[in-house]
Amino acid sequence: MKKEAANVADRSVDVVIVGGAAMGSSAAFHLRRELDFGGSVLVIERDPSYARSSTALSASSIRLQFSTPENIRLSHYGIAFLRAMKDRFGPEADPKFHEGGYLIMAGAGGDRTLAANVETQRREGADTQFIRAEELAARFSWINPDGLSAAAFGPNREGWYDPNTLLGTLRREARSGGAEYLTGEVVGIEANRTRIEGVRLASGERIACGAMVNAAGPNAGRVAGLAGVELPVEPRKRTVFVVHCRDAPSGLPLCADPSGVWIRPEGTFHISGWSPPEAEDKAADPNDFEPDYSEFETYIWPSLAHRIPAFEATRMVRAWVGHYDYNTLDQNGIIGRHPAIENLYFVNGFSGHGLQQSPAAGRAVAELIAFGQFRSLDLGRMGYERIAENRPLREDNVI
Ligand SMILES: Cc1cc2nc3c(=O)[nH]c(=O)nc-3n(C[C@H](O)[C@H](O)[C@H](O)COP(=O)(O)OP(=O)(O)OC[C@H]3O[C@@H](n4cnc5c(N)ncnc54)[C@H](O)[C@@H]3O)c2cc1C
Repeated sequence: MKKEAANVADRSVDVVIVGGAAMGSSAAFHLRRELDFGGSVLVIERDPSYARSSTALSASSIRLQFSTPENIRLSHYGIAFLRAMKDRFGPEADPKFHEGGYLIMAGAGGDRTLAANVETQRREGADTQFIRAEELAARFSWINPDGLSAAAFGPNREGWYDPNTLLGTLRREARSGGAEYLTGEVVGIEANRTRIEGVRLASGERIACGAMVNAAGPNAGRVAGLAGVELPVEPRKRTVFVVHCRDAPSGLPLCADPSGVWIRPEGTFHISGWSPPEAEDKAADPNDFEPDYSEFETYIWPSLAHRIPAFEATRMVRAWVGHYDYNTLDQNGIIGRHPAIENLYFVNGFSGHGLQQSPAAGRAVAELIAFGQFRSLDLGRMGYERIAENRPLREDNVI
């Protein structure tokens, strides 16, 4: 936007955050409550019910079992954050974090990669255990190890929690720290080659800003496009099935099978889902929230019944759809500043593991804005530069 245009904006703020779910609210919370950032922070959210946000539709699980050290470090902070929420923010902020563990299984030939990943995790402070296929049945009597070469189990600091409590707390604390939330949809971004000058809302309002954070989840690619910036993030549809199994083994960890099927307990039920092979996984219509019921019969039930025979007799109770904020380059988060547009920040593309990383990713982008550099974690490898230079940062453990 040209100078004279900025002068006629309806208002002007220091930081505009586009999207007010987990990432946007975490960035706002860290700026205003944790880092003493003195500037004004405006979070623009098109749907304050969050009904279609990834955050609300997530499987809301957290793990240390990644292959990329940065992802492990991001989750360490997420775990510490979840564990401390009730004491820090009061009883209503209890996210009901259940540390039920993850069991990640490797098929034939996958044991070497799994073993290397476990080593990385243990170096990064996790207690992940590597279990050979022949030892599995002794550890977990309910498992059928056919076709497995090994598995990795995280006995602590991995599990699941309530996503709405995490989001609600981040949002409330951001507001109490002085961040403002505005209901509106960003439909235009006024940018030149080096700066974002402001954003335009569907209502016609124009807001000038000193910095802009893209926290638009699966819509982040489109939002970046409004500024003329290419960002390889698109919505990918995932159906989550709620299942009932009368004879389910008690105390199941989150189990991730090599077939792409995962399952974990959820109250008196279990929830389960499936990720298609990369070649078959296509961009979703952002308005498509209709469950793919056929996935249950075709992929999920056969895989569950094979791996955990107790699930042979399973009833599907209901299903919901959410969209992954899918980074087509390497399925890893993009956290950083645009190399040329110096006041444009990204916290995007987490591809199915973003909720657990939202406390740390929001803190990281807040540090960049407040201090001009990362302070807590060096996330230099996760920046936008790798996108621009087509240098994938591969994560082996994407579920
Ligand atoms: C089925 C499923 C299971 C998942 N399981 C896990 C899991 O177990 N663990 C985990 O860590 N992660 C998981 N994820 C991923 C995780 O949910 C996301 O990575 C994370 O919630 C992303 O948060 P976000 O705030 O960036 O995006 P969102 O929660 O999608 O929020 C983006 C917000 O931006 C708003 N917005 C978009 N465009 C605009 C605009 N132009 N103007 C104004 N507002 C706008 C939207 O309304 C939305 O509220 C899962 C995701 C899905 C779909």
